[in-house]
Amino acid sequence: MDKLKRWTDMTWIDINETRGEMIALIPCGSVEQHGPHLPTGTDLYIAQGIADKLAGAGLPCPAERLVMTPPFFHTYAKESDAWPGTLNLDGATLALAVRDVAEGLFRQGIKNIVLLNGHMESYAFIMEGLQLATGDKSGVKAISVNWWDFISDGLIDKLFGDKWPGWVAEHAALTETSIMLYLRPELVRMELSEAGVIPAPLPYKIFPQKKETLPPSGMFARADGASADIGKILVDEVVNKLAPIIEENFRN
Ligand SMILES: [Zn+2]
Repeated sequence: MDKLKRWTDMTWIDINETRGEMIALIPCGSVEQHGPHLPTGTDLYIAQGIADKLAGAGLPCPAERLVMTPPFFHTYAKESDAWPGTLNLDGATLALAVRDVAEGLFRQGIKNIVLLNGHMESYAFIMEGLQLATGDKSGVKAISVNWWDFISDGLIDKLFGDKWPGWVAEHAALTETSIMLYLRPELVRMELSEAGVIPAPLPYKIFPQKKETLPPSGMFARADGASADIGKILVDEVVNKLAPIIEENFRN
């Protein structure tokens, strides 16, 4: 098994037979510009790629019980609304969509959810959706995970040193480019990776957004220094830390 089972590849009979034990893994991404060199699906491809590495990794994780549901592809990436390619839900819509899907799973007798998120801006709305879905129920459990929360400052320092721009600027930059070079190299066009002019970040936000505060390339930091080898180190780190957490939370 080199990838997780897919909900949409199963019949209702398959789901009926396995739902008592099932851990539904919901990948969450974005449809968002990722600079000139990465595809708009980057955040989802990273979440799905990490999830699939849980299968067959020989780690303390009940991977045979994990089923990947259809993803949340459209989420909330409004800081990238100024670029072609970005498609969004409103934050309230996303929160309610997460609530509805989680409640749908619970209604069918699936008690365990792992939501694996690949896009920072969505996180508050995802948490709201899971809170709404679980708040009035007993016997159900959902955990939400941002992949970058498993990457320590020490590892970042070792891998990138002075080139590290900070997580806030990490959009289409060192970590995402490295992980995509490892997971989906056919979709990365490194020769087009040019951050261009990056305006100094403001310590506040302006609405409506002002174009002159945004980098024309869509990159908030440079990606040179990214590599597939680094991508593998980052993905392995997340998988190695996430697997025992799933085991611990959803042990039978
Ligand atoms: Zn991203």
